[in-house]
Amino acid sequence: MSISVLVINCGSSSIKYALVSERHEDRIFGLAENLGSAEARIKGITTGDKALELLIPHADHEKALETILERLSHYNPQAIGHRVVHGGTLTKAELLTPEIIDRIRAATPLAPLHNPAHLVGIDATMRLFPELPQVAVFDTAFHQTMPAHAYRYAVPKFLYTEHNVRRYGFHGTSHAYVSERGSELAGSYKQGGWLTAHLGNGSSTCAIWNGQSVDTSMGLTPLEGLVMGTRSGDVDPSLHSFIANNLGWDIYKIDKMLNSQSGLLGLSNLSNDMRTLIEASEEGNEDAALAIEVFCYRLAKSLAALSCGLPRLDGLFFTGGIGENSAYIREKTLSYLPHFGFNFSQEKNDSLKRGTEGRIDAGTGPQIWVVPTDEEGRIAKETEQVVIHEVNQATSKKSEAEFAMA
Ligand code: AMP
Repeated sequence: MSISVLVINCGSSSIKYALVSERHEDRIFGLAENLGSAEARIKGITTGDKALELLIPHADHEKALETILERLSHYNPQAIGHRVVHGGTLTKAELLTPEIIDRIRAATPLAPLHNPAHLVGIDATMRLFPELPQVAVFDTAFHQTMPAHAYRYAVPKFLYTEHNVRRYGFHGTSHAYVSERGSELAGSYKQGGWLTAHLGNGSSTCAIWNGQSVDTSMGLTPLEGLVMGTRSGDVDPSLHSFIANNLGWDIYKIDKMLNSQSGLLGLSNLSNDMRTLIEASEEGNEDAALAIEVFCYRLAKSLAALSCGLPRLDGLFFTGGIGENSAYIREKTLSYLPHFGFNFSQEKNDSLKRGTEGRIDAGTGPQIWVVPTDEEGRIAKETEQVVIHEVNQATSKKSEAEFAMA
């Protein structure tokens, strides 16, 4: 059995959508961007690869979703899969029920940039498609296999036992897809030890042993770890009290600064966009050059640290907007890891076509691959599995009831 799934991924100012056909062969996909501004628009690809561009000035998430859903309703999706960043203590994809929605809402303090936007999407699709099964697929779920020594913080135990304070990890659908696909390309499907670097506006690394996450760079929230577009990544935890004591800021202002005004944007004082920074650095902007250097150095440090979770290192996968498209960032990052025995091929790296899969090492030492992520495809697959499981459960309950009546 196979079903068509509409995948919705609501971000803070954007919505990615994809209608994945039965057997996952065809896609209609698009992006609503700049939401809330005069430049709000929907860009998409319809069937037959025709491009669609629709201005929706000042549209918010709800209005954009209505427009997307109206345009897609005649394709009759059979289920909706929502990407949800933080599932709190939920450990696998779940059919959306009022209880599950409440639990996603309860996890909002752990992902303040993401969960509120997902809830707006869930609310709108529930209203517009009340008859369709809807599933939440959590970024946190793939990392539930981490051992306690990787997910516990060195803080008093009651914070974990009574308040669930622990490392959760994010980008799970991407790390899961990329490590599965990458190990398949390398000829050792879901076997061996791999590092993944998902580098986009949000970035994280993951260590995967025999197909399971054993450690990752993000933690309780998606703020921990690497330098990101607007997120600081790791800072000394005492930075909060230093700023509060010396600048008089409250905790909300500090949190906002670390989530929305830091990272590449904070370091460069120019942009959170890596392309803009690379261009600016080529034109001599020293702050942009430093932002790129910090990004690559901290990324290399994270990969080196996560390798401790692996009994053996078979290779590294790059993915995400930066990881897939920037040969420059890949090369610079690897230049900080000379002792790992990577036999990096500059020629293969430079000649890899943007957005394509390919190997960029020279054939000895741990392998290095670029693997474009497919979070939408993975969410559609998990949504399908949950829906089919529910249908099978309902069918076996019905047969049991009929048997008992007979
Ligand atoms: P994502 O969040 O995965 O869509 O990735 C967005 C990031 O990818 C932004 O920082 C973009 O600047 C970056 N990006 C996309 N294409 C390139 C490229 N050719 N070179 C460098 N960065 C890129």
